[in-house]
Amino acid sequence: MRRKLVAGNWKMNGSAESIRTLLQGIKDGAAPVAAVELAVFPPFVYLSLVEQQLSGTAISWGTQTLSEHASGAYTGEVAGPMLNDFHCAYVIVGHSERRTLYGETDDVVARKFAAARKVCVKPILCVGETLEERDQGITESVVERQLKAVLDLEGIEAFNDAVIAYEPVWAIGTGRTASPQQAQDVHAFIRAKLTERSSEVAAKTRILYGGSMKPANAKELMAMADIDGGLIGGASLEAKEFLAIAQAGC
Ligand code: PEP
Repeated sequence: MRRKLVAGNWKMNGSAESIRTLLQGIKDGAAPVAAVELAVFPPFVYLSLVEQQLSGTAISWGTQTLSEHASGAYTGEVAGPMLNDFHCAYVIVGHSERRTLYGETDDVVARKFAAARKVCVKPILCVGETLEERDQGITESVVERQLKAVLDLEGIEAFNDAVIAYEPVWAIGTGRTASPQQAQDVHAFIRAKLTERSSEVAAKTRILYGGSMKPANAKELMAMADIDGGLIGGASLEAKEFLAIAQAGC
């Protein structure tokens, strides 16, 4: 049985004050949704604050990206070993905004995934097609290519300690959600690709859906057989909404 994970990607939002308020709200409302694992992903500069606020709770935290390098002359970057100093459980790799705005290729994403594993921080690997790719009918080949880059570098066993997030790019921040069946079809495809390499690992790997998930659509999405939670952007910035999504997964 895969425990659902509801993860909040805060992107480049928040301030020390708003984050204190948000975390207090999440902590206050977490007990009734304890069946679901919660995790939050602040901007790097608030990691220390988040660690202080969440230490000793059941809520996990992590970062939105990391460098593929372990240290050195990489101005502006943050390395895997640094995440250990803040006891990060997870790191998001290959988010579509990183791929499209910052030119992260499949190869770079795979190396970031490897860098996370090296320091025992669990990667959440994002995959997903653009609208153009969906319209061309190549969703599966795009997702397969993104997944294969990581599988070829790190192997199937790496997914024992990793999470996948299927995020159709056309659904991120647009208010346009994949239908539960559209999402389920891709999730089942991803699981089938993992099964080709190991049915045991495939059965255990959590595959989250991301893309305008809200309290109103979360229950239907998370009721699908291969949807094991959500990666939430906009709706993770309000404790009430974030917790309502988690409730839908209980
Ligand atoms: C995301 O950025 O991962 C995301 C799913 O954003 P939103 O929920 O705002 O669509």
